[in-house]
Amino acid sequence: MNAIKELGHLPPNLTCLECDSPLFQDSDTSYLFINYLKGRKDFQCNNCKKIMNIKKLVLHTIKGAKHSRPTMVLGFKTSVYVITIKKDEVYTFDLDMIDFPRDALIAYIQYTPAYNKDMEGLKPIDITEKDGNRIYYSRINKLYPMIGSNKNINETEICVAVFWIPNASSDVSWQQMNQSLMLYEHNDYMQSLISANIAVEIKLEEIIDKILSNVENISNAHKNGFMRNVATYSHQLNVLLPLIASLKGFPILDDDIRGQLNSLRDNRNKIAHTGKAKIASKADAAELLVAAVFGLQYLRLIDQLLTSDTML
Ligand SMILES: [Zn+2]
Repeated sequence: MNAIKELGHLPPNLTCLECDSPLFQDSDTSYLFINYLKGRKDFQCNNCKKIMNIKKLVLHTIKGAKHSRPTMVLGFKTSVYVITIKKDEVYTFDLDMIDFPRDALIAYIQYTPAYNKDMEGLKPIDITEKDGNRIYYSRINKLYPMIGSNKNINETEICVAVFWIPNASSDVSWQQMNQSLMLYEHNDYMQSLISANIAVEIKLEEIIDKILSNVENISNAHKNGFMRNVATYSHQLNVLLPLIASLKGFPILDDDIRGQLNSLRDNRNKIAHTGKAKIASKADAAELLVAAVFGLQYLRLIDQLLTSDTML
């Protein structure tokens, strides 16, 4: 039996631009984006009282804020456990054994051994087979206990931090955005832009398709032809989305974010055709990823508003 002891949960680790202190005790940060999209663009740090622009805070986090990770902007939860690995036994860290939420997207798992004062102990080597090119993690993970400098140590406690996003295991756009931010953290900014663009395109198409499918007089054949031949991504983003938001009285996506989403798409095309991005640096990529995160949060908001809209 591979016993797993639960230690607790941590809120997302977005940190202040000024004093680096953690900003949230709440595990859901989506209200930040919703506030921004509805025009309340600033947020105040409880510690140093600095008022900061939410978009700048997201940029700061994606670029690599102290004590934080880019993917934190998606509203991570962190659950912390203690396990014990033993010499010569492969340990199976199985989240299904501890009633872990089924709809969680496991973004990252970090293993930290509790070594003794001489830094001796077994080192956990993750030997889980990876599923294709996906970066995110499996619910069942295998750890091989590598023997360290002291061969007499038979077991070592390991602190396991699981970073996860609720309600996202079957949300492809959210998975792509998570993957994009992970790729950015691993310095692969061109692939990161491709994933970010896919994330926004998928969600936008899903919303437009949903709206058209709800109109009785439009046949599937007409709808599909329109989506394929007329309402391509650029038209969806620059014409249909503002039109729908305006007709429904929903918030309109800021022009600067929409402009950056167009630039993200241009970069994606240039990378696909030439292997090179239009932007010059990783820092420029971060700006486009911020737009993708806001764009995606906006589309999730529109999706919610449409679902609660009795006209549909
Ligand atoms: Zn502060």
